Amino acid sequence: MARIAIGGFQHETNTFAPSQADYAAFEAGGGWPGVQYGDSLFAAVEGANIPAAGAIQALRAQGHTLVASAWAAASPSAHVTTDAFERITGEMIRRLQQARPLDAVYLDLHGAMVVESFDDGEGELLRRVREAVGPRVPVVASLDLHANVTRAMVERADALVAYRTYPHVDMAETGARAGRLLHQILASGKRPEGGFHQLDYLTGIPSQCSFIEPCKGIYEELGRLEQRSGALLSFTPGFPMADFADCGMAVFGYGAPAAVAELRGVVADAEKDFAMELHAAPDAVRRAKSRGAPGMPVVLADTQDNPGAGGNGDTTGLLKALLEQKAEDAVLGMLIDPASARKAHEAGQGSTVVFSLGGMSRIPGDAPLAGEFTVERLGDGRFTCTGPMFKGFRMTLGNMALLRSRAAPGVRVVLASRKCQAADQEMFRTLGVEPRASRIVALKSSVHFRADFGPIAKEVLVVKSPGPALADPAEFKWTKLRKGVRLRPLGPVHA
Ligand SMILES: [Zn+2]
Repeated sequence: MARIAIGGFQHETNTFAPSQADYAAFEAGGGWPGVQYGDSLFAAVEGANIPAAGAIQALRAQGHTLVASAWAAASPSAHVTTDAFERITGEMIRRLQQARPLDAVYLDLHGAMVVESFDDGEGELLRRVREAVGPRVPVVASLDLHANVTRAMVERADALVAYRTYPHVDMAETGARAGRLLHQILASGKRPEGGFHQLDYLTGIPSQCSFIEPCKGIYEELGRLEQRSGALLSFTPGFPMADFADCGMAVFGYGAPAAVAELRGVVADAEKDFAMELHAAPDAVRRAKSRGAPGMPVVLADTQDNPGAGGNGDTTGLLKALLEQKAEDAVLGMLIDPASARKAHEAGQGSTVVFSLGGMSRIPGDAPLAGEFTVERLGDGRFTCTGPMFKGFRMTLGNMALLRSRAAPGVRVVLASRKCQAADQEMFRTLGVEPRASRIVALKSSVHFRADFGPIAKEVLVVKSPGPALADPAEFKWTKLRKGVRLRPLGPVHA
């Protein structure tokens, strides 16, 4: 049986976002386990919906011996600092060298990392891993569905395997698929023939959800193509917020290059179907007020401040609309505001205090929101998620508080101190709020919330409020993107 190194380094970089990912951001993890070196990696990911956990399980089931190198993830944000990249990659490479002789390497990567000092984070990481283990040792990586895949990544890895669901309910499953492919490569001694194509249009992340068309149909077609051809295929709609040449959609696969080309055609043909309706905050609140009911809430997705796409979770546009229209039975979460959460803890449960909420990131069009709020409940931010996507994730979100507006008593706000996307109902239940009992649930999330909140939602409205994670990629000021790419489906061409 083989000796296989396990590692991982996940970051989704929104180069237009306000904050960078430094080493401390990887230590904090943003909902993921913090930085792990060596054997602690195994316990840190065990039982969670994390790619490495699935790969570890699949490879152990084949009897392989696993050696942990380094694993790290942080909340999506602007660039990874050079310091963080060098420290984490340096430790990974040092441990790979120490662990030699190795028969193979599995890596748990995101695929959309941009580093301060260079653009293709994973391309550079894979170059160094390849250099450390030599050309003959198979290297297989799993990738997020939001990977911006580059030719360098494809060439430096033996195989790349991406998620097929957004919300990402199949992270561990994808790791397992990558693990099984790695086992096959080792058992057969053969490397599968690869294919790779980039598409020439971008689409905003709200339209990439695999529960709805066109992605639902594309992934179904991907499955049919695999059955027909025997290939292992991936389609990555990409992360359209990283200003570098290779940003955008790609298809790739192994075992049947013709099937990869066919999948490329399927995605090209779906371009017009990616267009999506977005709502201004006041309109969305008006509609939600008339349609939501306790037991059947309308869910509002504050997509452009999604901490899962580089937002800091602190803009107040949607909250302002809820307050101005005096919404009833409405709850918004999570507003990431450590100073206000601390203030709530200092004031104590039951007290009424003037807060200045959010607005710290100075996003154009956004400002702190001042008002009197009653502190209804306090929490320490420690809980385990239960929804289909974040199942098993052990959260440490710092001081949390539930506030109720004095001026609009039907509106409550969940505060947290550390950045994390509101995609699991436990983020509310930890403060005694049962989301289903509300009329309106407003979430700092783009799509991931649909896994846990979709089943309780009467309807979902995607809201366009201030934030750095623009839903329409054509609104970003692109400077490095390759020429000829349409900046939205059927939209203007980047020249
Ligand atoms: Zn993703």
